[in-house]
Amino acid sequence: MDNKNFRFETEAIHSGYRSGEHQGSLVPPLYQSSTFTFASAEQGERRFAGQEEGFIYSRLGNPTVKILEDRMATLEQGEAALAFSSGMAAVSAVLTALTKTGDHILCSQGVYGCTFGILQLLKGKYNIEHDFSAMTSLEMLEKDLRPNTTCIYIETPINPTMKLVDLELVAHAAKQRGIPVVVDNTFCSPYLQTPITHGCDIVIHSATKYICGHGDVIAGIVVGPSDFIRRVSKTTQKDIGGIISPFDAWLLLRGLKTLPVRMDRHCENANKLVEFLRNHPKIEILYFPGNSDHIEDNEIMQKQMKKPGGLISFSIKGTKQTAQLFMNHLKLIKIAVSLGDAETLIQHPATMTHAVVPEEDRRKMGIEDTLLRLSVGLEAWEDIKEDLEQALEKI
Ligand SMILES: *Cc1c(COP(=O)(O)O)cnc(C)c1O
Repeated sequence: MDNKNFRFETEAIHSGYRSGEHQGSLVPPLYQSSTFTFASAEQGERRFAGQEEGFIYSRLGNPTVKILEDRMATLEQGEAALAFSSGMAAVSAVLTALTKTGDHILCSQGVYGCTFGILQLLKGKYNIEHDFSAMTSLEMLEKDLRPNTTCIYIETPINPTMKLVDLELVAHAAKQRGIPVVVDNTFCSPYLQTPITHGCDIVIHSATKYICGHGDVIAGIVVGPSDFIRRVSKTTQKDIGGIISPFDAWLLLRGLKTLPVRMDRHCENANKLVEFLRNHPKIEILYFPGNSDHIEDNEIMQKQMKKPGGLISFSIKGTKQTAQLFMNHLKLIKIAVSLGDAETLIQHPATMTHAVVPEEDRRKMGIEDTLLRLSVGLEAWEDIKEDLEQALEKI
């Protein structure tokens, strides 16, 4: 196994783990231990001094967690990775590692609601500023980057309007300045998009979503260059402390094995539902990567995404009340935030995930009161379609 690179599907099952080092256990063991014993006082001294490899205390590293981190680094084609207790623990550890008072962060035109929240917090408490940019051309990026910009932070597809950001374009602009590009890759998972292969530097996941895939864990992942990962591990992870539990890491290792087959089904179901929704008279606008009126987006998708993904946003003709009425009539589809689970989930961004974003900013992001986001699950697509159909008939 060693040193040979296998295909994605194989690495998702095997990478980072050698059963021979664990009594032959086929499945990675769960090291549910807070601390690790040293053979001698001197060994403890060497471990703390960094002169000897080995585990010390689970906030500083844990063998089960390490397998997950190594596997995620392989899947994202990065050098190293760190696992966190949530996607937001990962986002905040990265942003606080890359900035200090007086710095500026340039963000894509939309970001996850709580990422918006941490940006506000950094601004209010530490005078770390941020701006949003459509990032559609090099000229625009050059205009929007400031002398004090220390990182670019993007989501693509942008939640929830599915607008795409050209990763190579952004990476190119950032290279000229020598600043890192951070990509929240939650919506794609490494199966559909690997930002590092397009020149970006750091990848973040809410592993709660597709990485886990079963709706039973909250977790985050950061992948990036070894020196950056080491720095975060020894500072904003270790000292702020948002570390993952070994059991959650173990569940994520289990979830990862089926990531490719799950993603294929999510994508296949989504494609079929897009066909149905696009032609429905009660649907006003439909957002789906590669299916947009923006020709550029379709080109970007071809360049950086394997498939469009499993998330569809659409607005219902009518008002906020019409959208809520539609949701209330759904029987199979569950009303819940989160995404990437086996169950199909629907949510109302304006009053749920993006309720913290001020109305004016929300409208700029294209989040109208009639917009809904569907996370297509793994059920038979006909059953999902029939549920949407019957609820649409009732409004
Ligand atoms: C859910 C989500 C997050 C936050 O992750 P948690 O695991 O809930 O902390 C960040 N970014 C995106 C795009 C998300 O969907």
